[in-house]
Amino acid sequence: VIKIGNLTARRGEKVKGFLKVYETGIELPVTIICGKEEGETLLLTSGIHCAEYSGIEAAIELAQELEAEEISGNIIIVHPVNISGFLACNHNSNVPEDNQNLNRMFPGNEKGSVSEQIAHYIVKELHRKADYYIDMHGGSIQEELTPYVYYVTAAKAEVAAMAKNMACGVNTVYMVGSKVGSQGSYNHAGSAGIPSILIERGCSGVWSREEVEIYKADIINIMRRIGIMQDGKAGKSYHPINIENVDYYEAKFTGLWYPEKKAGNIVKKGELAGTIKDFFGTILERIYSRNDAVILYQICSLSVLKGSELLVNGILIREEGIRQR
Ligand SMILES: [Zn+2]
Repeated sequence: VIKIGNLTARRGEKVKGFLKVYETGIELPVTIICGKEEGETLLLTSGIHCAEYSGIEAAIELAQELEAEEISGNIIIVHPVNISGFLACNHNSNVPEDNQNLNRMFPGNEKGSVSEQIAHYIVKELHRKADYYIDMHGGSIQEELTPYVYYVTAAKAEVAAMAKNMACGVNTVYMVGSKVGSQGSYNHAGSAGIPSILIERGCSGVWSREEVEIYKADIINIMRRIGIMQDGKAGKSYHPINIENVDYYEAKFTGLWYPEKKAGNIVKKGELAGTIKDFFGTILERIYSRNDAVILYQICSLSVLKGSELLVNGILIREEGIRQR
């Protein structure tokens, strides 16, 4: 039996409803599938950032399509977490009640602002029931990204190893070991002992059928790898290229952003990655890559603000003669 808030799912049942987050007025749409066979519990959250639509739609469809008959253990799906931001079409993905980024609020505070309370509720009611955790994200409206997956490394060795094993089940070219152990939902869960990953797929405020199908296939593949999906098929490994270090570039000026490359492109050390200009075309800043790297994501809006993140590169290192330092 799985009991969360006022919802109870018994063996072989799928239960859907809303979870009230304390006295905030927020109600989270959730589906609980209590598999036919006993086993471990997988937590899926989507829409902690409410404008990352591919992950939200994939979670909504998985909640409808997965059935208890094929599951050993339990699945809890939240679709989406930042429901008030989603309904407000909040383009910066923040929680509208306090204008905070929910994924910087973990482990949260029961007496804090609305996003702190949501974070606290998720830790107390959902993380603590989970044996595995997948947080479903993507690029925000002003970002373009190449699909990739983060796995926790700020965790016990066996937790980090299992998280990496889950990340290998994601159909992406790159995976990134995250050294962060707090603030983010999956980061906090990892440091609390739950093998946790965060998938980045889809961006720029749009979603597509193709992205949603790949997203769902990734989740089902991981479920096979950890033994929760029992459909007789073996889980695949996609052997993503492992990135240990990520390089962040901040804009030194407010102005207009002209990237030279696309997300997923490779930049060489010293190569021009983009230019910031003013309204008269005068160059304010040229951004050169500090490393041989892949552009994991970058700003795709024309406007850019001083101090904001411009692009994020995954540093590629020489390994098996393929990559270069
Ligand atoms: Zn996100």
